[in-house]
Amino acid sequence: MSKITFKIGGVHPNDAKLARDRAIEVLPLPQTVYVSMAQHLGAPAKPIVAVGDKVKTGQLIAEAGGFISAVVHSPVSGTVKSIAPRADIAGKPVTHVEISVEGDEWAEGIDLSDTLVTEIPEDRVAILKKIQDCGVVGLGGATFPTHVKLNPAPGSKAECLILNGAECEPYLTSDYRILLEKTKEIIVGAAIMQKVLGGCHTVIGIEENKPEAIEAVRKALTELPYNNIEVQSLKKKYPQGGEKQLIAAVMGREVGSGALPISVGAVVQNVATSLAVYEAVQKNKPLITNTLTVTGDCLPLERQHNYLFRIGVPLSFIAEYAGGIPEGAAKLISGGPMMGKAISNLDAATVKGSSSILYLSEASTRRGTESACIRCGRCAQACPMGLEPFLLNRLYKAGDNEALEANAAQDCIECGCCLYSCPANIPLLDNIRMAKGTVMGILRARAAAAKAAAEAAKSNENKN
Ligand code: SF4
Ligand code: SF4
Repeated sequence: MSKITFKIGGVHPNDAKLARDRAIEVLPLPQTVYVSMAQHLGAPAKPIVAVGDKVKTGQLIAEAGGFISAVVHSPVSGTVKSIAPRADIAGKPVTHVEISVEGDEWAEGIDLSDTLVTEIPEDRVAILKKIQDCGVVGLGGATFPTHVKLNPAPGSKAECLILNGAECEPYLTSDYRILLEKTKEIIVGAAIMQKVLGGCHTVIGIEENKPEAIEAVRKALTELPYNNIEVQSLKKKYPQGGEKQLIAAVMGREVGSGALPISVGAVVQNVATSLAVYEAVQKNKPLITNTLTVTGDCLPLERQHNYLFRIGVPLSFIAEYAGGIPEGAAKLISGGPMMGKAISNLDAATVKGSSSILYLSEASTRRGTESACIRCGRCAQACPMGLEPFLLNRLYKAGDNEALEANAAQDCIECGCCLYSCPANIPLLDNIRMAKGTVMGILRARAAAAKAAAEAAKSNENKN
């Protein structure tokens, strides 16, 4: 099978998939879970339960807080103990519903059997509503509500659905494991999304370092009754799983600055999202579980794990169950080493998008002493967005927001390829991330001002 990839930039970190051979284990339930109301992109969800209420597993406990938002369900059965702010992994206060666990009684109508359901409902609108009602969000990192992404604005047409099975971040193996262990469910999920999008071509992209997953999908495709779905081997190159990089590799099209994938006819969904879509539509199961990897270079092989966890379980519970924080762990990360977020609060609860607890040693997190830029250009060669990180860094230091916008700081995908490549150890990612935040703020304020001006003009027109 030929291998494809994106053309601009990229790096080749050691993939370190240490937990790849560890089958998914079901994590036991803790005594208490804390369900975040802000575990998706967009407006936070609004609780619809009260302290003292009894809830069942899979019962709706929070409604969507806006158009871009998602509902939230109880991951356990028990009693609501509190609804209050609690620190997330970064220490930021977020409203959580605290539920004490009492048994595991599931809400009615959820099919918990392993029976594979391959017949797809006919009604596109009903499918979208089911995905929305089950609180499905993108599990590849962005946690964008899936029902919104699968319903492009009038006038735009999906030509290709790309399922992201690249899992290009080092260490992470949960997507690999579900590709092996839930192969057919993922494909049925893809067929459901394909139907919702009007029957477009579908490509399941998997990096070449996972040949077993590629073969499992290829074989399953021959055994399932769907057309126009193929598996594609991708070259191992970071960030192959980036939305724009996947589209470039699979469709040979570039998504313009500030544009959405649908502008070039693409919709990208993660393989874990596809599994969640299958469970929602075919099993009526809300998104209350996901798979995460406990891994790192300071964990011995026998302590590397992939767990099926209930959303809301504290990270500290998982860490303890997996044997505690290993000796030599200098840094804890949620996500991969390139794009993940430092865990500053291990008591934080897992959320829909949690993908790992990654323990990294001092040796692998140590940054060399920063020195002056030697103008080698390696950061620009590595940037998959075609940016000039050395220039953005200089403009950030000069506080030149106008030039930062003109040089597309807002297009940075925060992949870290520039930082990884820089021989002068300049904190390019940190600085460019800050610059991007500033430029995005300016762009948002400008858009809001333009909208307000247009509304005022319309209102004046109506008066005259
Ligand atoms: S972090 Fe941003 S600037 Fe750096 S390589 Fe990635 S996209 Fe380019
Ligand atoms: S890689 Fe580092 S040293 Fe080389 S041009 Fe970029 S910022 Fe300068």
